[in-house]
Amino acid sequence: MTVIRRLKNLSTGNAGETPPIVFRAKIFFFLVCLSLLSVDGWQAWKNRTVQLRDTETTMVNMARALAQHGDDTLKAADLILSGVIELMAADGLTEKMKPRLHQLLKSRVAELPQLAGLFVLNADGYAMVDSNEVLFSNNVNDRNYFQYHRDHADLGPYVGPLVKNPAGAWRLTVSRRINNPDGSFGGVVLAAIDIDYFRNFYNTFNIGESGLIILGLNNGTLLVRRPFFDKYVGSDLRKVPIFRDYVTKNHDGTHTAPSTVDGKDKINAYRHFNQFPMFIAIALSKDEVLDGWIDDTLRHTAAILILILILAVLGNWLLSQIKLRLETEAKLVIAHDNLDQLNKHLQNLALEDGLTGLANRRHFDIALNEEFARALRNRETLGLIMIDVDWFKQYNDIYGHRAGDDSLRRIADMIKAVPQRTGDLAARYGGEEMVVLLPQTTLESAAIIAERLRADIAALDIQHAASPLTIVTISVGVAVIRPSLQSDTPDQLVEEADRALYIAKAKGRNNVARSDEVKTETSLS
Ligand code: GH3
Ligand code: MG
Ligand code: MG
Repeated sequence: MTVIRRLKNLSTGNAGETPPIVFRAKIFFFLVCLSLLSVDGWQAWKNRTVQLRDTETTMVNMARALAQHGDDTLKAADLILSGVIELMAADGLTEKMKPRLHQLLKSRVAELPQLAGLFVLNADGYAMVDSNEVLFSNNVNDRNYFQYHRDHADLGPYVGPLVKNPAGAWRLTVSRRINNPDGSFGGVVLAAIDIDYFRNFYNTFNIGESGLIILGLNNGTLLVRRPFFDKYVGSDLRKVPIFRDYVTKNHDGTHTAPSTVDGKDKINAYRHFNQFPMFIAIALSKDEVLDGWIDDTLRHTAAILILILILAVLGNWLLSQIKLRLETEAKLVIAHDNLDQLNKHLQNLALEDGLTGLANRRHFDIALNEEFARALRNRETLGLIMIDVDWFKQYNDIYGHRAGDDSLRRIADMIKAVPQRTGDLAARYGGEEMVVLLPQTTLESAAIIAERLRADIAALDIQHAASPLTIVTISVGVAVIRPSLQSDTPDQLVEEADRALYIAKAKGRNNVARSDEVKTETSLS
């Protein structure tokens, strides 16, 4: 029974409930999905971190390369300036030297792509020699670099802000002061560097659509910018947070912060030049850097979701199959159960007498044979009480068959009370004859039982007009044998009881006769 109940619970549970195994399978499925998503999420986050770190490393390397490039570009120009000053150091710039110097400057400008022009200016701001075909004639004493050298005794290189040449092109100037032999201001040597040289170089880098490269002076003056706009040249960076808070304070570094222009996160890398008071700064849009990562993550997540969907469909199908199987199993068990009960019922029907509810003749025959064999095996006694209703034909005749049946039932009910021990069996032998099989019983005990039964039936006091006793009575024959292999058979016991019954009838009915009385009578006659 417990197995059946468990099976029923497993499959359908109580009405409408999910079976525990299905519930557990659902939890398992949920956990699998959760693990898949978390592993993917964790992996995606790791990839993002790696992507950002790699970008920073690339940017640091790029800043170093650009700073080196800037240093080298200016250094090459400055070396020429030093050479010119050395040349003039001995006896100034004589008229004789000018053509030679002009040729020298011209060939240097031709050799170095960054150089747009080289100039030797006198103390008044006019060109004495330059690299141009026609000597530059404008006065430059109002220019920042000129005034700086005039006012400072410093002989080192000076990188000035950008200047626009008369043709409108932007030039970065590197200049040095020329001293007269007495140490007074003797003029300026100047290299004009083409801004396009930097712009073209910076344009070769892939920095995305929102990327930015800035070349600036340490005092916060913007020199070159990619993307390049005229209006930005010379603009003041001192109030830009990344310059104010980081570039001015460190030689190099990286920093991620929202852009002052669009508020979106920018990854910045910056580095100062080693030989000139300048810096390079690179900014990349974090969104752009993570673009590929986002695409990747979306693809991953979509794949995982499709996988989960497939799992869900398959899992659902599997669960419905399990559910169906469990239900079928439970139904089978119930059907088996019902069949079992039906079988038992049928068996009872097959072994039970329909009218009286006593065991039927078939049942009695089986029990008689079994008990006989048992008694034989165990060397025990086997008793049989045989009952016959007196004058019953007449009863039927007077009261009708139906009333006869009722009386038979009442008598049978009394007989049903006789069997007390396992193995005892009360049965309808045929017609109005009934028997009680009593294993391990002595003749005396069986006779006592029979007598009690006789008295009980008489006490029912069922009226019987045709009986001399005026009530329904029974005659009882009692026999007990101890079966032995040689002589006895089950039929013998029946015959002996039958014979005793015959004696009881002969005694005038409403009587009990024992099988030993039969023998006595037989021996007497
Ligand atoms: P006695 O045994 O005393 O010699 O007389 P009797 O009338 O009982 O004689 P007998 O045993 O030969 O008659 C049996 C009668 O029992 C015949 C039949 O009418 C009746 N009888 C047998 N089976 C049934 C039954 O199932 N229902 C009813 N109502 N009567 C039955
Ligand atoms: Mg009879
Ligand atoms: Mg009879």
